[in-house]
Amino acid sequence: MKTYNIDHNGFYGDFGGAFIPEMLYPNVIELKENYNKITNEPQFQKEFEKLLKDYVGRPTPLYFAKRLSEKFNTKVYLKREDLCHTGAHKINNTIGQILLAKRLGKKRIIAETGAGQHGVATATVCALMGIKCIVYMGEVDIKRQAPNVARMKMLGAEVKPAKSGSKTLKDATNEAIRDWINNPIDTHYIIGSVVGPHPYPDMVAKFQSVIGFETKQQLKKIEGKEDPDYVIACVGGGSNAAGLFYPFLDNEKVKIICVEAAGKGVNSGESAATSVLGKEGIIHGSKTLLMQSDDGQITEPYSISAGLDYPGIGPMHANLYKSKRGEFISIDDKDAMRWGLILSQTEGIIPAIETSHAFAVLDKKKFDRNDIIVFNCSGRGDKDLETYIEYFKL
Ligand SMILES: *Cc1c(COP(=O)(O)O)cnc(C)c1O
Repeated sequence: MKTYNIDHNGFYGDFGGAFIPEMLYPNVIELKENYNKITNEPQFQKEFEKLLKDYVGRPTPLYFAKRLSEKFNTKVYLKREDLCHTGAHKINNTIGQILLAKRLGKKRIIAETGAGQHGVATATVCALMGIKCIVYMGEVDIKRQAPNVARMKMLGAEVKPAKSGSKTLKDATNEAIRDWINNPIDTHYIIGSVVGPHPYPDMVAKFQSVIGFETKQQLKKIEGKEDPDYVIACVGGGSNAAGLFYPFLDNEKVKIICVEAAGKGVNSGESAATSVLGKEGIIHGSKTLLMQSDDGQITEPYSISAGLDYPGIGPMHANLYKSKRGEFISIDDKDAMRWGLILSQTEGIIPAIETSHAFAVLDKKKFDRNDIIVFNCSGRGDKDLETYIEYFKL
């Protein structure tokens, strides 16, 4: 059967796989051989579900946005990942990976972070489990994201600056990989999105799929049917989108919309619209679409939202794009910021700027009165207050 999910070789269509240096083989193979076995154990699932409920606060509500629905003459639902502990969906994945790391006997956790959201989610679960945590972060990002650096330190993590290259996310990732190569026995590397070598994209998608499975159950109760007409999410690496889409991937009656950050405009040279601008290549161990120069150098992405500011997309999404299973829409900074304000003043929900991008689809596309549309409300706007203040002169 044709599927948009992962195949036995770790590929989504032409994308995915594990293109890694030989020195990483032992770590990645250990994960590949164990992740499904461990995560399918009833005891693992029980512990995962209990923490998602009591610690993260799941299930998150599926909220019918009445005023937004009236304004656009359609049925708009919000999956409220912004209400998760630490303010976004990222914690679903870090809880899953820390439980896996413990069962693999790991004593030390490393992670990379750009804006610091994944670093905070990782530092949180390490504090919860009493495990040592090292977060690699570009020196430039450390200066730009002081509040999240303080949070990580307060949670007991060590924040190590990456001083090479552009001193941002991709350099932090290189440092983390170097650390992992040097510490293969006692260390687990928690990657923050559906990117990286197989099995990471599949593992992270499965931990995040709780978003989509809850949505089905909740829609069944509210609407009497499990399947919406549209599922819509913003895509940085693609984990919140993968989590919402997961149970609907092979049900083509449910339409999938991925929203990317156009930055200052797709053709402005300052953008993160990977599907439009990207070409096939290998980034962080995975074959996917990425932004690169003609001679294959990865180009610096730009978006006003730090979480969408990534030069690649996960292999699942590259395949959704190439196969046309997903529709890709890019939204620029200006429209995203405007939608941050609209959602705040129409529903009383201040979204993360990443999330604001997704809602701007309501301007770009006409929906029917009876369409059921589920937006993944991936995170809350507290972390972006400084940017909102500066932009709107609040
Ligand atoms: C990190 C982040 C994103 C982007 O990451 P994905 O892996 O694409 O989900 C989106 N929204 C919020 C709130 C984030 O923190």
